[in-house]
Amino acid sequence: MSKGNEPTAYREMTAVDLFGKRIRVLDLTREIGPDLPVYPGHMKTNFWWHMTHRESKLRIGEESRFQGYGVKGIVMCDHISTHVDAVYHFNADRPDLTVESIALETLITPAVWIDLSFVRPRTNITLENVKGAMARAGVDRLERGSSLLYYTGAGDRWGDPEAFVTQYPGLDSEASYWILDRGVVNVLTDAPSTDNPADLSYHNHTAHGERLVIHTEIVSNINKIPKHTGFYLLVAPLKLKGCTGSPARILALWEE
Ligand SMILES: [Zn+2]
Repeated sequence: MSKGNEPTAYREMTAVDLFGKRIRVLDLTREIGPDLPVYPGHMKTNFWWHMTHRESKLRIGEESRFQGYGVKGIVMCDHISTHVDAVYHFNADRPDLTVESIALETLITPAVWIDLSFVRPRTNITLENVKGAMARAGVDRLERGSSLLYYTGAGDRWGDPEAFVTQYPGLDSEASYWILDRGVVNVLTDAPSTDNPADLSYHNHTAHGERLVIHTEIVSNINKIPKHTGFYLLVAPLKLKGCTGSPARILALWEE
């Protein structure tokens, strides 16, 4: 209708000026929508027109210049698409550690990423696998207060929902505790879960429940971060009161 200023087009990777520096930004977030993969047993997603532009215009009246506004309704699971698991998700004794209470210091951190795509789907990722991937990435240690991203290759099956929600490996107990004992504050993966779907021990969820550390699932573009260290993460879950998780916008940032 009216000729406004055309907004900047969305790009997954871009650069912005921040605090006098040129900063590269890569979006690590998957979309949320009715036809996208949902973890087996979780609530499915639906969006609908709660009020169309036309319906609101019927109320506003034709004499107003305003076109009317559109509003959609949403139903979805608190663990849909790219999302944070709050501690309460895997520790029933800590209803205080719900998703809206996660410290900003946990959500804005230095980060490293490692490639574990050599581990076969539906098997456990061992400590030896993790140390091997770290060595190949040139990551000699995990810093206290940092985040660890690991790429399994599961994200490449996003377009095939059945394969996506069943074909991925998970961290075993030893690897999980070793990572958390380094002081890592968030563990992020491209897979739908940090636990092997063929092993109902839930090694990683158990370890995170004990150590009171969040993790984050269905993270996109991990393997497109051009360096394994020396970048930052901004993780922004919604403040869904009392919820055990939340979809999150996640950005990787580094100095150009
Ligand atoms: Zn989850």
